[in-house]
This record gives sequence, C-alpha cells and structure tokens, in this order.
Amino acid sequence: MKNTSRVGLFGGTFDPFHFGHLNSMLAVAEHFGLDEVKAIPAALSPLRVQTQGSTPEQRQRMLTLGISGHEDLIHIDTQEIERGGTSYTIDTIKAYVKGGSKNLFLVIGMDQFVQFDQWKDFAKILKAADLIVTSRPGSELPYSLDEWPPAVSALVDDFDSQQALLSTGRTIYFYQLKDVIASGTEIRKKIRFEQSVQTLVPGEVERYIRENKLYESIQRNIGDFEKFTKFCENILVEKGGVNVKSYDLRAKQAPSEFTLIASGTSTRHTSALAEHLIREVKKEYNVWPESSEGQQEGRWIVIDYGALIVHTFYDFVRQEYRLEELWTRRQK
Ligand code: ATP
Repeated sequence: MKNTSRVGLFGGTFDPFHFGHLNSMLAVAEHFGLDEVKAIPAALSPLRVQTQGSTPEQRQRMLTLGISGHEDLIHIDTQEIERGGTSYTIDTIKAYVKGGSKNLFLVIGMDQFVQFDQWKDFAKILKAADLIVTSRPGSELPYSLDEWPPAVSALVDDFDSQQALLSTGRTIYFYQLKDVIASGTEIRKKIRFEQSVQTLVPGEVERYIRENKLYESIQRNIGDFEKFTKFCENILVEKGGVNVKSYDLRAKQAPSEFTLIASGTSTRHTSALAEHLIREVKKEYNVWPESSEGQQEGRWIVIDYGALIVHTFYDFVRQEYRLEELWTRRQK
C-alpha cells in the first residue's frame, strides 16, 4: 500500500457479512476511484447492545468467504479483533495515519451517520479522513443540514446535497447506492425461522452459517418458552416492574408465541429493568437477545428472544400505545 493510495475503510460487525456490505464496498470503490477497501470487523461495537451472534473469529471467517473473488480490491484488516474490547474507529484510523496513509475514506451507511456525533472523537476522525456516507434502504440521504447531527453540521463550511466541505479541511461525500435490502438482524432472524437467505448472503457464507449452526442457539438454550416467559416475568417483578403481564399468543396471528409487558416508573427505571432482565437471562440461559431496541431512551424497549418478545415501557408511553388491546388473552 503506497502512502498516496486511496484507501476505503469499511468497518462493521459483519454478523453475518451480506450482499448489502459487498454492494456498498464495490460501488463506492468504483465511484470514488479507491485503490483498495479495508474490511475491518469490530471486536465490539460501542453503540450496540450485545446480541446473540457469532464469535469474532466466525465473523472474520464469514467475511473471508464473502469477499471471495474480490481479493484484488477488498482486504481484511483484523486489528480491531486483535486489540479486543470495544472497537473505536478513531484508534483504527490513528493506526493508518501512523503507517503514513494520507488518502483515507471512511465509509458508513446513513443509519450510522445519523448518530455520528456519538462516535468517540468524531471531529478528530473528520480531521484524519474523508467520510463517504451511503444510502441504505430505510435510511435516505439528507437534503438539508437540519437532518444532520447538530454537532457534525457545526463543522460544515459549505454544503450541497452531494458533499460538504468541513472546517477540518476534509470532505463528507453522500452517495446513493442501488438498494440492497439486507441487514444482519433480518438475516439472523430468517435463519432462526429456517427461512432462505440465499438472496441475501454469498453462497459460501450461507453454507458456513448452516454447518456451524450459527444463530440457532436462542431456541436451543431456552427450550421451553412457557417456562422462560415465567422466569422473565418473575425477574421483572422482583426488580420493581409495574403491572407486569404475560400473554400467550400461540393461538393468535402474532410475531411471537409469547409476549411480556412491564412498566418502569421513569425512563431510567425502564432501562434498568431491561438491562437487569438481559443480564439475568444471560446468567441462567447463556443467551443474549436476538435484538434489543430503545434501551438508550428508555421509553419503549423491545427485547427479542425469538418466541418471546419483551416490552418494557415508561408507564406513560405504555398508556399511549395501548398495545395490550391487541392481546386480550392473559396467560394464566
Ligand atoms: P445489524 O442488523 O446486525 O445491525 P448490519 O448489517 O446493519 O447488521 P454492520 O455489519 O455493522 O450492520 O454494518 C456495517 C456497515 O455496513 C454500516 O456502515 C452499515 O450502515 C452498512 N450497511 C449494512 N447493510 C447495508 C445495506 N443493506 N446497504 C448499505 N449499507 C449497509
């Protein structure tokens, strides 16, 4: 790698690597004339709740299988996995700067850009590298600076819808990709429900997932979901959850077999309930949730354990949404 090479840095959890990643790497490299793209699997992503997934080694293996045929352009950089712990992009970029790289382009999807002001040392990142922000299905590119995270827009000297010149001397480019509707969360869910992921991940990646039985362990470890629902209910009651109710939805058309709802007395209490439950389940059953959303705000948190979905609400929000009217049959 020459110091003057144009190098794209593409980080992610890659759990698993999918066609959305590959499409973005190839299209961005072509459009921006990149000499190479570094695919950098994170050890642990800072803004992500721990979910049930594969080990760093398995993610790295899937990445290797997934980029097969594109090794001339895409190179895997394992520095974040080797460092271990929480992976901060600024540390990775510093390593490249130290190595003499000058033309660095950090590539992220629009879903990441909307929270870019929460990235550690984001202003330093924008001093050391240009940023390429791509569209992603469900996350369209911004039309105006109002749609940017405010702390990032404060760095802008000049802006049009395709690029922004920053006071750091760097540029943020916006790039519209051809939509590839794939996400790690959706793929893990499909595997769990034994649905095909053939159109979402390269064939070798799918084979590896099946052979190693990735993403199936929630079902396997939990086993009896009726008992598991009761266990979660008790945990939430013990932690002071208000109006804790469980619903058996097996006879209904619903996205899960069981649902559990509890209220917290404040947003902080609501987040604490969710965190406590996730910890206790990990201790007892050795599983993380398939996904968990809303934990930072603490208004409405949805924790997905596959056949059981747990909602913890700040009580005012619960009354607003009246979800329970959907599930009238109370589990005894
Ligand atoms: P999860 O659902 O587990 O969050 P993910 O595929 O969204 O999975 P990552 O593997 O961490 O998450 O994504 C790495 C990078 O790839 C991010 O910058 C993300 O915005 C981008 N990306 C992921 N999927 C797509 C897609 N379908 N189109 C464009 N960019 C994508």
